[in-house]
Amino acid sequence: MRIGAHVRVSAGYAAAIDYAKRLKCSAIQIFSSNPRSYRTSPPNRPALESFKAARREAGIDPCAIHTPYLINLASDDPKIMAGSLGLLKADLASAEAGGIRYVNTHLGSYGKRDRNEGFVSACRLLEEALEGIGPDVYLVLENSAGAGSLCGGTLEELGRFIKSLDHPHLGVCLDTAHAWAAGYEINSQPGVDRFLYEAAETIGLDRVHMFHFNDTEVPLGGNRDRHHHIGEGNIGFEGFRALAMRPELRDKTAILETPGEEADDLRNMETIRAIFKGAGHAV
Ligand SMILES: [Zn+2]
Ligand SMILES: [Zn+2]
Repeated sequence: MRIGAHVRVSAGYAAAIDYAKRLKCSAIQIFSSNPRSYRTSPPNRPALESFKAARREAGIDPCAIHTPYLINLASDDPKIMAGSLGLLKADLASAEAGGIRYVNTHLGSYGKRDRNEGFVSACRLLEEALEGIGPDVYLVLENSAGAGSLCGGTLEELGRFIKSLDHPHLGVCLDTAHAWAAGYEINSQPGVDRFLYEAAETIGLDRVHMFHFNDTEVPLGGNRDRHHHIGEGNIGFEGFRALAMRPELRDKTAILETPGEEADDLRNMETIRAIFKGAGHAV
């Protein structure tokens, strides 16, 4: 399994790679930008090229871009819809320019609109985004914490996106903290087995490219998005050990989005690597 962390790029790509190397990451996730508006700029090709070369040299692959939180593909506000599509397309273009395999996005919120209507219009936007996708780029939809009008809180709903769009470059990223907050009891082997069985039935495990490994202190089904250190929350060592016991995860990528500074990141990466090594994974 390829395991890495979400890394800040505010000090430049070279510093981000150095940081990922210190954490012994074999994968990495970044934010492409942190826009406060829907304005986009074309990809910075020279910077992305050298980022790609540095990753190759460090053996860090794959890389994922996490899209900005401004994106809401389930909205019915034309301005938000157009802006979200623009940001998504910009990240897909950067991914292609930089040899970045995954673009991970949240789906957003239906707000007060009818869920079915929202689902259909989100599909239309995703379809448009996928039209120009690069041959080595995958768009992965992240599960949400499942609060009220949030889109993508259930495996079933993510599976409906995959099936409705039926595009080979569309996949899913499962965030463990969000899954727990949405009511999936993944703190034990039977719970994890049920979760992955349902993911296989609704999405197909071949479409689950990525995981976000985060623990959480939110109660089961609490619908809040709060990440915590690996093994120190309600999913606990048992939950991550149960995930590590599953051989189907061998070819997947996992990214930690745990809180804190470098010491915390080092500890969390060490913990998750020890759990997966202990279960016979090459990490
Ligand atoms: Zn996310
Ligand atoms: Zn996540």
